[in-house]
Formats: sequence, structure tokens, C-alpha cells
Amino acid sequence: MSETHQIFLQESAAKTGDLAMQLKLSSAARQYKKSFEEAVTQFSNLETAKRRVAFTRWKALENLDKYLIEFEANFIRSGGKVLWAQDAAEACAEIMAIVNRSANKNIVKAKTLTSEEIGLDEEFAAHSQEWTETDLGQMILQLSGEKPMHMVMPAIHKDKKEVQQLFNDKLGSKVEDDTEALVSYASKVLRTKYMNSGIGITGANFIVADPGAIAFTENEGNVLLAASRTRIHIVIAGIDKVIPSINDLHTFLPVLSTYGTGQKLTAYNTILTGPRKAGEVDGPDEMYVVLIDNGRSKVLGEELQRKMLSCIRCGACQYHDPVYSVIGAHPYHSTWMGPPATVVLPFMKGFKSHGFFSDLSTLSAADTEGCPVEIDFNKLLLDNRKKAVDEQSRPGTEKLFYFAWKKAMLKREIIKWASIKPRNFFMNAIFMKSPLGLRKMRPPAKESFNEQWRRRFT
Ligand code: SF4
Repeated sequence: MSETHQIFLQESAAKTGDLAMQLKLSSAARQYKKSFEEAVTQFSNLETAKRRVAFTRWKALENLDKYLIEFEANFIRSGGKVLWAQDAAEACAEIMAIVNRSANKNIVKAKTLTSEEIGLDEEFAAHSQEWTETDLGQMILQLSGEKPMHMVMPAIHKDKKEVQQLFNDKLGSKVEDDTEALVSYASKVLRTKYMNSGIGITGANFIVADPGAIAFTENEGNVLLAASRTRIHIVIAGIDKVIPSINDLHTFLPVLSTYGTGQKLTAYNTILTGPRKAGEVDGPDEMYVVLIDNGRSKVLGEELQRKMLSCIRCGACQYHDPVYSVIGAHPYHSTWMGPPATVVLPFMKGFKSHGFFSDLSTLSAADTEGCPVEIDFNKLLLDNRKKAVDEQSRPGTEKLFYFAWKKAMLKREIIKWASIKPRNFFMNAIFMKSPLGLRKMRPPAKESFNEQWRRRFT
């Protein structure tokens, strides 16, 4: 068993007993599903909208080289700069170089899960570089020192009492545990940060090849402020975020907000085509897009699993996933969390250490039902599991077990040979192992089905 697997088991076992977290996740999922039902009524034909998004994403991924180059050429023409990063280290180095060149090194960050992926916070900390998270959820996590719990709602596991406590302890506030008061307090704190910052770092919802633009969708307006109030704007995005045309956004934006937050459309939808131009009143002097691969090419190289990169990071599958609803996101130690992690992490990080992620799914297909780009998780995961066997990355004990299991199942005499007690013991040991002992085995049957049949009918 790999070290990653051991750590995952330990941490997820602890989360299995965290009922408070599970209640918050299930309450958020209930709320989301209610809002979703309302928002989805805006589509006269939801299936067509989903198929259109899925097809466009598929087309973009199949022609990624063409669309990325087209984006780069158009974006450069508008005065922007594109930096390509093979991995997290390269991306961090590029960003640090820009920060070091800047006269004003105060940084505001907004809605960039990809910066978490490349470990930018840790890089900043290592260089004693301060920064401020401006998305409310991320701001809460920066104060609490935690990682995101959800792709779209990073602080989904925090209630207002906990946020009030954090604000009191870390910022010296006297604010009440009232949502409006807490939001207004956070806005006041952030306002001065925006005014004094020289660099804004954001993510991107989509990279639009034609006309070379970045599209953002958000509710708090942080990206808009980070991009318009600072002198340098750095966008960090995975190469998979590209879509062919600005005309695609009229379907992508409502689909993303419906599936992401259960809204017909989020409050702010912004399209940026480069730094401020002559005659414009706001916007940065310099704008960079750091395009990162960081393992995506390995997934792209797989004919089936490539489909996973068409994910629009709406987070809907997390609300539907039985595993995520019990353990949350932290044991994944990745911004690929919940169902998408189970497909991509073995390819990105290697089957030997991360292959076990593909075993997490119960194959209930609930994740697929909630996915706007129609990712067939069961198909991809079964193929992953087959690859894990082919690549010999399964533990020797497991192979031995299945060898013995197959032999026993194919020979009635072997099954009959063991009496009911050792059989029950065996089943208990294998299938009912629970790290916290939360599950109880049903009392063993006194007779096997075979014995009962013989006693009653022969
Ligand atoms: S896999 Fe589908 S449901 Fe999950 S985040 Fe991606 S697009 Fe959304």
C-alpha cells in the first residue's frame, strides 16, 4: 500500500466520524438541489444545452493545440502575455518573477483554485510574500489555515458562528454571527486591500480562443476588482480551460451557473481581452496568462479519460457523490476533489501511488446524473481499474486474494469444504473492515443456504 493510500485511509477514517462536517455538507447539498431545480427551469431543452456544452468541450480538447495557439496569438495581439508552464514549479517561478519585478508587491487573489493546485500560497510563504484572498470563502480559509472543501464553495463546511469566531480571533472584529454583517465586515476589510494592491491574481472559468479572451463568472465581483484596480493582472489557468469561441459563452455561462450554484446566471460575468488600452478608464497595465499543464497532458493522452478534462469545474458531482458526502475534500490533498479526482489523479500522479482513488466510487452513477458535460464516471473508472491491474500496480495480497476467490467460486467443493463459521469470519475480515468500527456485522447465519436447502427439501 502506498504512503498516499495510507494517509488517505487514516484521514478519511477520521472524517467518517466527523458528523458535524457531514451535516453541513448534506445541508449545503439539499440547498443546492433546491436552487438547482428552480434555475434549471430556464432551459427549454436542458438535454440540448448539455449536449452542446459537452460537444464543444470535446471539440476543444480534441483540437487543443489549435485552440491554445489561436488564443495565444489573439491575446498577444491585444497586448497580453502568455506564459506556458509544464508543472507547478515552473508556474510558481514565472509568477514569482513577475511579483519580484513589480514595484508594488501587495497581492490580492480571487477565485483561483489553480493557484492552490500549484502550491502558490506555499511558494509565497517560502518567500515571505504576503497576499490576501478576496473571495469570501477563500478569505475564511486563509484565516483558518485550511484547504478548500468544494470546487465552487471552498468554505462550505464553515457555519456563520465559526466565521464570526475566526473574524473575532484573527481580525479583532466585534461583528455578530449574522450573515449580512459578516459579509459587510469582510467587504470593508477587503476594500482597503484592493486599493493598496499592485498585483491581482485570478483564475479563469474559460479561456476563449477567439478573440483571445478570459471569461469569469462570479457573485462577489472580486475578480473584476482584482483585475481593474491593480496594475498587474495574472491569470492562472489549466490548458484544459479553452473553448473555441465567444459565441459559446451564451450556453456555457448559464449552464455553469445553474450547475455550479443553482442560479440562472451569476451576478458578474466578465470577459477580459488583455491589459488596459488607450482611452480605457480602468484595467491593468500588464496582463499575463499562465497556462499550466501540470499532468493534464497525461490525461489527454488517454483516449477514454481525456473526456474528464471537459469538466467545467461546477462542483455539482460533489453534491451527488456518496463518498465525498462522508469524507469531504481534504483527504484528497488535491484541487481535483471528489469524483473528478478518482479519474485523473492516477494518471497525473501515477497508478502506483494514486491508483487507489479509482476504487473510491460505488459506481452508483449518481455523479454522472448530476454532470452537465455528461461524464460517464462508471465507464472511466472501470477502465482505470483495468489499467491498474494491467500496470501491475495492485498489491500482491489483493492479487492472491482474487486468485483464491476465483478458484473457490468456480469449485463448489471448495465452498462446501469450509463450514459456515470460518466463512463468516472470512467475510467479516475482508468486507466489513472499518477503521473506526462504526459498522457492525450482522450476526452470522447458523447454516449456509446450501445446508438450509438440504435440511428442508431433501
Ligand atoms: S465532473 Fe461534471 S459535475 Fe463534476 S465538476 Fe466537472 S462538470 Fe461539474
